[in-house]
Amino acid sequence: MTGIDDLPVREELRGKSPYGAPQLDVPVQLNTNENPYPLPEPLVARIAERVAEAARGLNRYPDRDAVELRTELARYLTRTGGHPVTAENVWAANGSNEVLQQLLQTFGGPGRTAIGFEPSYSMHALIARGTGTGWISGPRDDDFRVDVESARKAIAEHRPDVVFITSPNNPTGTAVEADTVLALYEAARAAGPSMVVVDEAYVEFSHRDSLLPLIEGRPNLVVSRTMSKAFGAAGLRLGYLAAHPAVVDAVQLVRLPYHLSAVTQATALAALEHTDTLLGYVEQLKAERDRLVAELRAIGYEVTESDANFVQFGKFPDTHAAWRAILDRGVLVRDNGVPGRLRVTAGTPEENDAFLDAVRELMKEQE
Ligand code: PMP
Repeated sequence: MTGIDDLPVREELRGKSPYGAPQLDVPVQLNTNENPYPLPEPLVARIAERVAEAARGLNRYPDRDAVELRTELARYLTRTGGHPVTAENVWAANGSNEVLQQLLQTFGGPGRTAIGFEPSYSMHALIARGTGTGWISGPRDDDFRVDVESARKAIAEHRPDVVFITSPNNPTGTAVEADTVLALYEAARAAGPSMVVVDEAYVEFSHRDSLLPLIEGRPNLVVSRTMSKAFGAAGLRLGYLAAHPAVVDAVQLVRLPYHLSAVTQATALAALEHTDTLLGYVEQLKAERDRLVAELRAIGYEVTESDANFVQFGKFPDTHAAWRAILDRGVLVRDNGVPGRLRVTAGTPEENDAFLDAVRELMKEQE
């Protein structure tokens, strides 16, 4: 049988597996940081309307620059991010993964490197690999925080072309202080002209403000966002960035023409019309996240402080066995490869109760 290794695939891809959490058919799925609430019916109806309108023009290519969508995203950021931006500051793509890929195609690539502070979102390293960018694993401290001094040292030593700062971080839930971002921005500028990408996929769930205002006067700083989490639209595939207009111009050099379909643009615009309702769900999820943290601690688990819609907990002598034991009770959580730790996404109150029952039993068994 012909396999991958029989084909002339790039050397760095040989022997590797594609990224992806197991998609198992389990009653309670709390493993991919999705929003558990389906879109509300009035929004579903509005999407149908806007998509029907778009369908009448599908013989034509979509608006290549997605101007209406970028204008509405800018309006949302201005209203919620603590800093005024316009469409010229905003760029959108199919999920923030594609935004990050376009950034690495533009500012990384062969002969260049990117750094992230791990454990963090593993796609950063994988997108680096896919774009031929060298990857540097930077440090976090024992509490999973980015320690300014050791991060600065790593940047000075490796002089990366791109610095990823994920806040709140996945899988740990840890937020990064604005002062830390500013210190690393200065370190990156001193080490060579590099770009700092702040991945704010989960920022709507944070106890803290967005780092968006930091883009002011800092053309090498990019904030990346997504509609997959707070907007409850992971299936839509819509991510976006905010930065100096020069960054938006630069990513045009690598984006595929008409990368964002008319259907995607229409759907995202409909969702943005319902921002207030969707952000209402975010408030419920934040309360559930805080409840998970408190109850897990009360059961006796060690829990990492979370600013996201998920919680990292442990410690387990055998992480895989613990993951399996929770799965056997009908609840799917995520093993992100952090030693002794698992990650649970905040679901509906009922789903969270099922999860808490499962880990309560597990704790009793371990005692
Ligand atoms: N950044 C982080 C930190 C994430 O956890 C994720 C999704 N798991 C993404 C980006 C990508 O999300 P999407 O492509 O759905 O926007």
